[in-house]
Amino acid sequence: MNFESLAKPSVLTQPVYEPGKPIEYVARELGIDVHGIIKLASNENPFGPSPRALAAAKLALEDGELYPDGGCFELRQKLAARHGLGAEQFVVGNGSNEIIELLGHAFVGAGDEVVMGAPAFVVYKLVTLLFGAKAVEVPLLNWRHDLPAIAAAITPRTKLVYVCTPNNPTGTANTEAELLAFVRALPVHVIAVIDEAYAEYVENPPDLRPLIREGRKVVCLRTFSKIYGLASLRIGYGYGSAELAALLNRVRQPFNVNAIAQAAAIAALDDHEFAASCAAANRHGLHQLEQGCMKHGWHFVPSVANFMLIEVGDGMRVFAALQHHGIIVRPVKSYGLPGWIRVTVGTAEQNERLLRELHTVLRAP
Ligand SMILES: *Cc1c(COP(=O)(O)O)cnc(C)c1O
Repeated sequence: MNFESLAKPSVLTQPVYEPGKPIEYVARELGIDVHGIIKLASNENPFGPSPRALAAAKLALEDGELYPDGGCFELRQKLAARHGLGAEQFVVGNGSNEIIELLGHAFVGAGDEVVMGAPAFVVYKLVTLLFGAKAVEVPLLNWRHDLPAIAAAITPRTKLVYVCTPNNPTGTANTEAELLAFVRALPVHVIAVIDEAYAEYVENPPDLRPLIREGRKVVCLRTFSKIYGLASLRIGYGYGSAELAALLNRVRQPFNVNAIAQAAAIAALDDHEFAASCAAANRHGLHQLEQGCMKHGWHFVPSVANFMLIEVGDGMRVFAALQHHGIIVRPVKSYGLPGWIRVTVGTAEQNERLLRELHTVLRAP
């Protein structure tokens, strides 16, 4: 009897997440120096972590022998003040990915359905399948979440409905009015999960707190991985009703978020200057990439996030070819977009280099 025959059937059919390729892998494979490689594959912050967060993380490391505060008390206080909500309305996770998993633990089982846009962040589907439920995928319309079609896909078996805005991998967003109307019209047995991983890059992002105050079944997800530059530390959070947060807190590991990440996140929230400068640089970067695409006649999807889809013909070929030029981008074939790549907005210099090398690669057969 082998291990596989002992595993739960769902494990054997579980698809595997394909992360952006780490710089070290490409360096090893191609025998090139890590310093010559730029990674524009995972929507990480090209300006690194917030400097305040970095200082706080280093300090926290000195108390590394102590277990962290499993309740993330100080961080939740800070988040409560930031969002004008109560600290008991927050749940902190090992990345917002963990909150997606906690939602599965708390609400999703065999026979249930989870509705989501397609293509959207693939983790919604992976976690749905992991819990033995059915992923109901609703195609985007003009690259945006088709909220009426998503609403129409809801059945008595639906437990969760995911809306990612701005959406990964398209960078497109739904409006506040659309989102408010959508959640208000949901049947009472369905929980809306609004993934706001890129909200800080958006000027005037939708304010969904009225839904929480009205007692609607909604939870919003945020992360420190993107604009705060802390992807490596794994910290994100959800906010919604206190009742929902209590349920999610019940199903998490006692020490799911380490103390270094907590200290860094607390400090990052105070680093308004850093977040503002990253958002401004990102807007310039988006403009730079759009101008480059237009100059070369490449199709792209206008984005409000820190990444952009560009049509390149054969996405896998271009992904592989760009690596030889020291640039890692994300092929999006697994998202059903074989003709496209997704590129993270880098520094001005990195964007320039990407446009130049992409031009070279697209000219070569
Ligand atoms: C990057 C990203 C996240 C963040 O995940 P973490 O686990 O917090 O690093 C969440 N949702 C979407 C759509 C993302 O693109």
